[in-house]
Amino acid sequence: MTARVLLCLLAAALCAAASDVTRLAERAKGDTPMASDLRELCDGIGGRATGSEANQKAVEWALKKFRDAGLANAHLEPFTVPALWLADSAEASVVSPTRFPVRVAAAPFTASTKGTLEAPLVDAAEGERADFDKLAGKARGAIVLIHSKEMKTFDDLFAEYMHNPTVLEGAKRAGAAAILLESTRPRGLLYRHPVNMGNAIEPIPGAIVAREHAERLARLAAAGPIRMRLRLANRTGGAYQANNVIAEIPGREKPEEVVLIGAHLDSWDLGTGSEDNGVNAAMVIDLARGFQQLGVRPRRTLRFALFNGEEQGMRGSAGYVAKHRAELGQHAAVVIFDTGSGKVTGFYLNGREELRQPLDQALAALPDAHAGDHQLDALDGTDNFDFVLTGVPNLVANQDPAPYLPDYHAESDVFERSNIAEQKQSEAIAAAVLYGLAESPERVPRQAQNDVEKLIIRTKLDAQMKLFGQWEDWKSGRRGLF
Ligand SMILES: [Zn+2]
Repeated sequence: MTARVLLCLLAAALCAAASDVTRLAERAKGDTPMASDLRELCDGIGGRATGSEANQKAVEWALKKFRDAGLANAHLEPFTVPALWLADSAEASVVSPTRFPVRVAAAPFTASTKGTLEAPLVDAAEGERADFDKLAGKARGAIVLIHSKEMKTFDDLFAEYMHNPTVLEGAKRAGAAAILLESTRPRGLLYRHPVNMGNAIEPIPGAIVAREHAERLARLAAAGPIRMRLRLANRTGGAYQANNVIAEIPGREKPEEVVLIGAHLDSWDLGTGSEDNGVNAAMVIDLARGFQQLGVRPRRTLRFALFNGEEQGMRGSAGYVAKHRAELGQHAAVVIFDTGSGKVTGFYLNGREELRQPLDQALAALPDAHAGDHQLDALDGTDNFDFVLTGVPNLVANQDPAPYLPDYHAESDVFERSNIAEQKQSEAIAAAVLYGLAESPERVPRQAQNDVEKLIIRTKLDAQMKLFGQWEDWKSGRRGLF
């Protein structure tokens, strides 16, 4: 036997002995179609706001990817989105004391202007209640400019969202004709900034205005009267249907029990939604492909879910939870990825400390991954939320926000922003977690309703839910049904 043959035999033996997780991880880190899928989704289909033609194309594209990969039970699941909002066009300019165009992007869930609005511009400072009071009658019929601080962290972004109800309330009370929200990001960057959770369209037109333009408008307004033209044309409407895309690897021993991995397929439309969240949608497709190709079939069913309508208030995952209400007790775990291609440092346990041990056990198969820094916090704002409300054990990947945050919902969220090498590491981690949770003989049980109530209070989710109108949905049983 030559040394060469011996080496080959040794390699074959090692390969056969390698664990399923090692094989899945090695495949994920190798040459896979994940990046080319992402490029097709971002460049070929592009920004895909729910309710748009592009969104429908993305749904068909994803379904075909699952079918081509040979997944079982690849299908669409319809759900209802309560209100349609799509941007058509947005134009703004100053007409006196001088003339210049102003860069704006319509804010989701705000009304269109009635044709072109021409009105004075009034500086409403930060848009606090006292700021509007100070303006007395001057805001009536005017376009109000609301200033912002530059966004540097997730806390800043969160504060930006939390401030919306105050601004809307103040502007409506003052009888303003429209709102211009100063972009929190410099160098002209525009982004979609939803002003509510998508239950309804706000009656007042609103837009983000480029930061440098906002500052010039403010200086001109301080020096004397200033008039603007604003034309915002949005497609708005009532409730409509959209689709989640689902596929499976049936469980080897307990096919009725499910471990689900989800990422949202929809995006906002100014950019092409690579970091939010195409890169993770492409990863979910490639994970499914990996398990199928390698013939890895854990004890429980693996369900791959590309949720839709996430940007409209997590409608797809809410729709999924409502549709699968009878089998939620059979969901051993749900794992969500929604922070682009940032390095996975650990997972949010969403208030369930008992998830830590099985998660660490699953991650032990990849000792070099360094993804063991878990947080007990519960998250509101992505597709895990309705699983929290219904007591299903759920995890959200905790990721380095560096590649994600600056381009969040912005024109600049495009294919080249995503770190493909890092995403391959994330896919290896996701494979280990899925495999571990689906193969383990034990599982973390679903919580009862009163335990969910306690979790919401303990993790302070209630404050956010109240601000965003989700508390009423929960209390009245529109969300979180048992
Ligand atoms: Zn997202």
